[in-house]
Amino acid sequence: MQQESLTLSDFYHQFPKADLHYHLLGGVRLNTMLALADKYNVELSEIDAKCYYRAHQEETGKMKGGIEALTLLYSLMRAPEDYFQVLVEVAEDAHACGVKYIETFWNPSDLPSEYANMNYQTVTDALAEAIEHVEHTMGLVIRLIPSINREKSPEAAIDMVNDMIAYPHPYILGIGIDYKEHNASVEKFWKAYRLAEQHHYRLTAHCSEFGLHWRNVETGIELINIERIDHGYTIIDNPELTEKYAQKGVPFTVIPSNTYYFKQWPEHKDWCQKHPIRAMAKAGLNIIPCTDDWHIHNTTSANCYRVMVEDFGFDLDSLRVMMLNSIDASWITEQQKQQWRISWSEMFDSLRAKLTTEPVIPQEHLIQYRR
Ligand SMILES: [Zn+2]
Repeated sequence: MQQESLTLSDFYHQFPKADLHYHLLGGVRLNTMLALADKYNVELSEIDAKCYYRAHQEETGKMKGGIEALTLLYSLMRAPEDYFQVLVEVAEDAHACGVKYIETFWNPSDLPSEYANMNYQTVTDALAEAIEHVEHTMGLVIRLIPSINREKSPEAAIDMVNDMIAYPHPYILGIGIDYKEHNASVEKFWKAYRLAEQHHYRLTAHCSEFGLHWRNVETGIELINIERIDHGYTIIDNPELTEKYAQKGVPFTVIPSNTYYFKQWPEHKDWCQKHPIRAMAKAGLNIIPCTDDWHIHNTTSANCYRVMVEDFGFDLDSLRVMMLNSIDASWITEQQKQQWRISWSEMFDSLRAKLTTEPVIPQEHLIQYRR
C-alpha cells in the first residue's frame, strides 16, 4: 500500500503545537465582531470593522492597531456567553492548525463596568465552561492567564490580582502584562506581581516589545521574578545578559509573523538578515514561536512555524526543538508535559516521514537550532 504523502503546508498544519502567547480577543473573527456590534446595536460598518483586521488591509487602505482592536472588542463583549462563544471559536480555529494547547491572556480590567453581569467571576465561569466544552469535543486544552492592562493604574492591577485570589480556579495559572509598554515598564506593577507570586501564581510579562530597551527584560527577571518573557527581542543588545538567560533557559515567546520590526523592514528578505529572532536563536536562547493576535494580525500557528522556516531559515529539526521548548515552558502539570513530549515527538516524526519534500533553505540563511 502506498504511504500517504504530505506537503509542507499540511505538515505545518498537522504537527502538534502549543501556543503560549495568545490574546483571547485577538482571536475574534471578523464576522463575530460584526455580530457582536449588531447584537448590542453598536454602529459598526463592515468596512470600519475590517480596518482592525490585517487580512483586509489592502481593501481598506488602513490598519488600526492591535490594541485598538482589543479595546473595541472588550466594549462589545457584554455577556458571559459572548466569552463562551469566542473561546469556542478560538479553539475551532486553533484545532484546525494542529494546536493542542493554548495559554491565553485576557484583560479583566477591561470588562465594561456598566454591565452588572460582567465581572471577573462571571467571565471566568463562562471561560471555564467553554474550556471544558472544547476539551471534551476537540481534545484541545486551554488555560487562562489574566493579564494586566499596563495603560491602566498599578492599583487596577492589584484589584485584578485580588479578584484572582478571591476566586481561584484550577484553569487560571498565572498573570501577565500587555498593552503599550513605553511609559509603563513592568516594575511599575511590582506590587501586583508580588501579590500574585505570594499566592503561587506563575509570572510572565511583555517586556522590551516595540524595540524598547533590554533593561525591561532585565528588570522583569531580576527584580520581579518573571519566569517567562513575552517578546524580549532587544535582550540581544546585551550579550552578557543574553548568555546568562540562555544558560538559565528563560523561555521567550517570540512572534515570527508580527513584530514592530516588520514595519521597519517590510521586505521579507530583510528578516533573514536583521530580525532579532534569528540572533536570539543563534545565541542559544529558549525561543517559542507564538501567534499573539491570531485574526487581528492575520496569522495562525501553522503560519508562524512556516515563517520560521521560509523567512527565518530554520530547518525542520529546529521546529521540533521549538515544539518541545513550548511544552517545557508551559505551565501545565509535569505529568501532562511528560506525556506530550513523547506523543508529540512521535507525531512530528511520523508526519515528517510522509513529507514529499523537505524545505530547501539557502546555506547562508540556514539556522540549525538545537538547544
Ligand atoms: Zn502579546
